[in-house]
Amino acid sequence: MFGCILGGLPMTETCDLCHSSALEPVYEPTLGRRGLMVCLCSDCGLVQSLPRAGRTPPVAAVVSSSADRNDVRAETGLSLIAAQEDLRANMRVLDVGPDSGSFAQAMLAAASGALMTCVGPDEVIPLPDAAFDIVRSCGMIEQCVSPASTLADLWRVLKPGGLIIIDAPNIARIGGDDIADEWFIDAQLYHFSERTLARFLKAAGFEILAAPDPKDRENLLFAARKQKRPARSEQRDLGEVDRALTLITSYVINRARTQRAA
Ligand SMILES: [Zn+2]
Repeated sequence: MFGCILGGLPMTETCDLCHSSALEPVYEPTLGRRGLMVCLCSDCGLVQSLPRAGRTPPVAAVVSSSADRNDVRAETGLSLIAAQEDLRANMRVLDVGPDSGSFAQAMLAAASGALMTCVGPDEVIPLPDAAFDIVRSCGMIEQCVSPASTLADLWRVLKPGGLIIIDAPNIARIGGDDIADEWFIDAQLYHFSERTLARFLKAAGFEILAAPDPKDRENLLFAARKQKRPARSEQRDLGEVDRALTLITSYVINRARTQRAA
């Protein structure tokens, strides 16, 4: 079965990346109706909102993206695919996320031989193993209860050597001195850096082909290829813990300053 993994959580939550239970509360969002607390894994530096259980489905809670933004993300994802694959080939393509329309249109215009399957973030649809040449996911992985489980499912449905495109918000955005709006919204349970999302991909059995543009502080866009599944990712990363704490501290200070100036 495929779908954003929404239920079946253990009572005691652990880090979805490194499985540590050392999840320290670091920030209480000023908006939101679920009482989520932003926590930092003090072993690997992954920032995640807790509790995950009983979350509101993303379709209802997410701040809807503009059509223009969807078009931009679709074109950016398509460019990345074109850099890795021959668009003249017949390909089976799976798109997973809340805004598939723009991408499906762009993909079919560029690759007339593509066969598209589009799945919403809360749809649970049985998909066979090793069925797709390309999987693209935008605006979804940060909302899943377990990115590790979702990436494992995307790995399963890809053919050997298949391409995955992952597009997610970049926590680097909160380091900007112009930030005013609350960034930690209820719909997003995970707040990835380039490093933590790269670790998720590698742990799920993907080799990274293209890393995000370091100048893009809004988005994390990866291209990766399905490899053999490696062991679990449990290494500590204290440098990432320090970077995350520094980011969240600057976020709190800059938002307070921006709001006073408004
Ligand atoms: Zn961790």
